[in-house]
Amino acid sequence: MRTILTLFIVIVALGVGVAAIPAAGGGDDRDGLDVVATTPQAADFVRAVAGDRARVTQLVAANADPHGYEPRPSDAEALAGADLIVRSGADADGWLDPLVSSSGGEAPVLALADHVRLIDGSEDGDPPDPHWWQDPRNARLAVAAIGRELDRIEPAAAPAFATSARRYEHRLERLDRRIAACVGTVPAAERRIVTSHDALAYYGRRYGIEIVGTALPALTTGAQASAGAVADLVATIEAEGVRAVFPEAGAGAGLERAIAGQAGARLGAPLWTDTLAPPGSPAATYIGSLVANTRAIVAGLGGGRAGCRLRG
Ligand SMILES: [Zn+2]
Repeated sequence: MRTILTLFIVIVALGVGVAAIPAAGGGDDRDGLDVVATTPQAADFVRAVAGDRARVTQLVAANADPHGYEPRPSDAEALAGADLIVRSGADADGWLDPLVSSSGGEAPVLALADHVRLIDGSEDGDPPDPHWWQDPRNARLAVAAIGRELDRIEPAAAPAFATSARRYEHRLERLDRRIAACVGTVPAAERRIVTSHDALAYYGRRYGIEIVGTALPALTTGAQASAGAVADLVATIEAEGVRAVFPEAGAGAGLERAIAGQAGARLGAPLWTDTLAPPGSPAATYIGSLVANTRAIVAGLGGGRAGCRLRG
């Protein structure tokens, strides 16, 4: 293979009629595409579709919070050399814009939020809820959008992208059905939970789970809970008989533990809301994270394992 490649380079160097080799990879001479993805979920979707045809640089690390992300100098370099930038969009990664402009790169930016169904902000003029990936039907739309964009950038690999995208979309479809069946083991009236920040509206809407309140009263983790708001939340949990309060994976559980303790509710297992687990863990992938969340929620609400055929 190396000999053939060398021969090819020699022929090109001799200028025997080959005018140009289309250069993928941000103008360098390496094979494959360089894709920068902002969040762990976006990176996971790109890897699922592009496979080994792309090197994916993921800006927000596993276990890290995209809301509070602080860019590193190496990010600008990655953005400058990218063939494609895939962002979650809708304010989950608002810090990307100045980074892209200062990097001087010219790669197209695919905002996945522009291709999914968003939940409007609670008040007129509020931005939409950015946590769209918590509904696997939105993940399917995002994956399809990534497939289309990769086709556009590297048409020669379109059949491979289409096959991978379709395969992954089928896995998402099956995941969605199985989550619905698993959550269905909890009586509808008992499907009420309290979470850390307001990140599970999409999941709740899809699977009929009411998010009664959140420890941090906001769509972002940057919010602070006031003593009054915590007291109100405790009262609501007691009044409505909410069984479980769920902290967030990758963050502390102190506030949620205190709220659950005061309200006499169960402290559920941490949920993967805005990030994924480090490689090698069950929740290192998007699908794994939703499986882990569903198991945690159903167990926290006392649902049966019998109807749950979830696989990571
Ligand atoms: Zn969030």
